[in-house]
Amino acid sequence: RLNSHPSGRHFLQIPGPTNVPDRILRAMDHPTIDHRGPEFNALAKKILRSVRQIFQTKQPVIVFPASGTGAWEAALVNTLSPGDTVLMWETGHFASLWKKMADKIGIKAEFMGGDWRKPADPAAIEARLKEDTGHTIKAVCIVHNETSTGVVSDVNAIRRAIDSARHPALLLVDTISSLGSIDYRHDAWGVDVTVAGSQKGLMLPPGLSFNAVSEKAVAASKTSKMTRSFWSWDEMLASNANGWFPYTPATNMLYGLNEACDMLLEEGLDAVFARHARHAEATRAAVKAWDLEILCSDPKAYSGSLTAIVLPEGHDADALRKVALENFNLSLGQGLSKVAGKVFRIGHLGDFNDLMLMGTLSGVEMALGLAKVPHKSGGAQAALTYLRDTAPGAAH
Ligand code: PLP
Repeated sequence: RLNSHPSGRHFLQIPGPTNVPDRILRAMDHPTIDHRGPEFNALAKKILRSVRQIFQTKQPVIVFPASGTGAWEAALVNTLSPGDTVLMWETGHFASLWKKMADKIGIKAEFMGGDWRKPADPAAIEARLKEDTGHTIKAVCIVHNETSTGVVSDVNAIRRAIDSARHPALLLVDTISSLGSIDYRHDAWGVDVTVAGSQKGLMLPPGLSFNAVSEKAVAASKTSKMTRSFWSWDEMLASNANGWFPYTPATNMLYGLNEACDMLLEEGLDAVFARHARHAEATRAAVKAWDLEILCSDPKAYSGSLTAIVLPEGHDADALRKVALENFNLSLGQGLSKVAGKVFRIGHLGDFNDLMLMGTLSGVEMALGLAKVPHKSGGAQAALTYLRDTAPGAAH
């Protein structure tokens, strides 16, 4: 009998929004203050400083009261002009949506790649840029961690590819499901605009998004001719320089962001990335023991944030997800557009630990059985063994 008011905790294991930790909920649970007063000003100055550390940048990070889609638009409209060409790599559903947005706002987006199982290919990007001797291509746009597939592209290698082609294109990177989960370096990798969102590695509810910018991107915004107002960087940058915002900020979300930055920096970014990588490895150990297929076909590109799993031919991933939700109060990520019904995704990012992962994998294994998906048992056990052997107290 299915329980309409299940007791215990819901397992929100979609690849974002992620579980919001109590520390962040408590931080947000305060009265909204005057965003033109001294208390807000001190808080904003602190946040705008500490959020840079999460992007590994010394450059400004702009915070919008919007979902990630807004920050995609901001990246495009601040740096480009109508009719400009950009190069995008079709890693999956989210890269496709970003392209659709570019098309809608009058930018010519050229799509490369496209089997949804492999990362962007730096050599192919370099070759395409070398052909573009007239420098028609104004930007290269990459989704760092493609949330629909669990495939990570090598942003640093793409930067080097642009440089070795001696091409002046800007590099725009979507880190919506990698920031605060998978190593990402805005400055060291020479990224011009980094797009991010609040609801994944930052452990916040949805509602904030970000543009980390480079000097080159800010210079491009001075000559860019796309129509923009709300998304304009110039007023944001001018106000933020003194700890203010040009319009009413999402004050309570900023309380949460302040706490999220503190939490990530207290744990240490390297430890945060290692924690995610370990949980991803444990998840893959389970998938391999189940004898199911990981969608990502390149082990070097496996995601630390999520794992997308392919169901055997003739089995419906959404039916499996329904069984997991109805029986075990476990939400798993659905397959999107091209892979709808074919894959399901396990999110293992954000505020997460070994036993939460084991609850998740146990739920998946039981759901596989109930949904009669052909698999071998023992996936949860394989993950358990891996977690035990790599626990801090284990003798390595
Ligand atoms: N890009 C990636 C990689 C995403 O994962 C998402 C959302 O999941 C988006 C863009 C869109 O962000 P939002 O839904 O916050 O607008």
